[in-house]
Amino acid sequence: MRGMRQTLVALAAAAVLGAQAPQPADTILVDGHVITVDAQFAIAQAVAIRGGRFAAVGTDADIRKLATPATRVIDLHGQTVIPGLADGHLHDAGGGPGVDLSRTRSIADVLRAVAARVKQSRPGDVIVSNSDWHEAQLKEHRLVYRKDLDTVSPDNPVVLVRGGHEYILNSAALAKWHITKETPQQPGGRISRDERGELNGELIDRAKALVALPPAPKLTIEELQAQHAKLNAAGLTSIRYPGAPAEQYRLLQEMEKRGVLTIRASQLLRFNSADSAEAMRQAIASSGLKPDEGDEWVRVGGMKLAVDGGFEGGWMREPYVEPWGAHGTFRGVNTMKQAAYTDVVKELNREGWRVATHAVGDAAIDEVLAAYEAANAEASIRGKRWTLEHGFIPQADQFPRLKALDLIISAQDHLYLAGPSLVNYWGAARASRTTPVRDYLDRGFRVAGGTDSAVVPYPPLWVIYHFVTRDTISGGVMGADQKITRREALQIETINNAYLTFEERIKGSIEAGKLADLVVLPEDILTCPDKHIEQMQVSMTMVGGKVVYQR
Ligand SMILES: [Zn+2]
Repeated sequence: MRGMRQTLVALAAAAVLGAQAPQPADTILVDGHVITVDAQFAIAQAVAIRGGRFAAVGTDADIRKLATPATRVIDLHGQTVIPGLADGHLHDAGGGPGVDLSRTRSIADVLRAVAARVKQSRPGDVIVSNSDWHEAQLKEHRLVYRKDLDTVSPDNPVVLVRGGHEYILNSAALAKWHITKETPQQPGGRISRDERGELNGELIDRAKALVALPPAPKLTIEELQAQHAKLNAAGLTSIRYPGAPAEQYRLLQEMEKRGVLTIRASQLLRFNSADSAEAMRQAIASSGLKPDEGDEWVRVGGMKLAVDGGFEGGWMREPYVEPWGAHGTFRGVNTMKQAAYTDVVKELNREGWRVATHAVGDAAIDEVLAAYEAANAEASIRGKRWTLEHGFIPQADQFPRLKALDLIISAQDHLYLAGPSLVNYWGAARASRTTPVRDYLDRGFRVAGGTDSAVVPYPPLWVIYHFVTRDTISGGVMGADQKITRREALQIETINNAYLTFEERIKGSIEAGKLADLVVLPEDILTCPDKHIEQMQVSMTMVGGKVVYQR
C-alpha cells in the first residue's frame, strides 16, 4: 500500500508540473500561502512562472527544483497569494480635471471645494466637478442643491457631476442653459423640484442632455496608464469596461502594441444614440469592430445597453418612498422604451453580439427579460453569456426567467457606498435587499463582481469585504441574510469574472498553464478578521508574470 501511495503522489506531482520534463522557471514564488481558487480550492506553498504563465503550483520543494541560477526567486515569507483580482464593471479610476469631491465628508466640505475653484475662475467660466463622489459620504446624507451652490457661486455656472446619472446645477447654470419651471420633463429623465415646487438644480439621466458641458479632455495613453497603475496597486489585473466608444478600444490596442499595458481589458461598446436596429447596424459598421475580437490583453466583450437610471432613477414596479415618490407617482426613469430596446436587442443577437444591459430596478429587469426572451425566441442566447448589469432588485418571479436565459449577473458593491441614500429613495426593505448576491448564488447563477468605479471606489478588497459582511461605509450592516462566504467572494472577484468574458480557461485561478496574474496580500484573506479585509494593503501585483505593483 505504501509503495502504491508514493507512486500516486509522484504521478500527481508529474501532472502538476506538466506532461513533459519540467522546464526551468523564469520566476518562482516560495514560502507562501497560495489560495489557488481552482475547482478544489486547493492551497499550495509556491508557484513557478515561465513565459508569462504559471508553469507549476505545489510545495516549496517541488517548485525550487525548477529554479536555475537565472531564475528570480521571490520569498513571500508566509504571505498569501491569490489570483489576480478583476472588476467586471469599471468605467474609470476616478479623478479628472474637475473639482475633486472624492474626499469631502460634509456639505461644507463640498461648498469649500467649489468656492476655491470659483476663486481661480474668470467671470463666465463653467465650474464642473469630477463624478467620483456620493452624498452618502457626507455626514448630512443628502445632495448639495442649487441654493447651497448659489451661496458660494452666485455668478459662475456650477455643474456638480455625481456618478453616471446626475447633475446638480446652481442658479447661474440653470439660467445659462435656459432651464426653468416651464421646461418640459424629458423622456427618460427628470428635472427635480423641492417641496415648494421650485427647481432644486438636480437633473437626472436624459434630462442631463439639457446641459452642454465643456468637452472633457481627450483620453490619452498616458492617462490610461496612470489609471491602470492605480488599479494595479489595489490588486486589479483584469477589468471590463462597461461601455465606451471604439476610440478607447483603439487606444488600448495601441498600448498593447507598445507594451505598456499593465492590466487586461475587455471592453463593451456603447453607442449612446443607437436607439433603433438600423442606427445600431450603422454604428457597428462605422466602428469596424467585430464581436469578441481581440486577445488576452484587449478584447471586445459585447454591447452595452441601459434601460433605467441609477440610485436616484432605478425603474421600479412600486413607487419610491416619499418625498421622492412624488405622491406615489415616481417609479424611477425608463431611459430606453421597450419597443426600441427589444428592436436593438434582437438585431444584436442576429449579428452575433453579446448584450449587457444596465438594469437596476425590478421594472427595468422586466424590460430586459421581455427583450432577451424575444431575441432568444429567434435564436437561442443560452450559453452566450449575456448579462444583467447591476440587477439591484430582482423579484422572486424573475429568477426562473433569468435562469432560463442562462444569464450572468454582473454585481457591484453600490450598497457599501450608498446604503443610507437607498433607504431614502426606496425605503429600508428594498435598500437592504439591494444586490442580493446570496439569492443569486443559491439559485445557481454565476455572479461576477465589480464596483462601477468611479461611481463606487475601485478597491476590489472592499467588494469582498462588503459582500462577506454586508457592512456599509456609513449605514452599518444592511441585508445580513445576503452575506456570502469568503470563498464565494473570492470566486466572484476572480474565476467568475474570467467566465464572464469567456476566459476561464486562461485566467481566474492559479493553475499550471494559466496566465500568471496574481496578488500578494499580507494576511490570509480566508481567516483574518473581517475588518482586515477592508483595511488590508496589497503587497504586490503581477500581470503575466511581471511585477506591475510593489508596495
Ligand atoms: Zn456603470
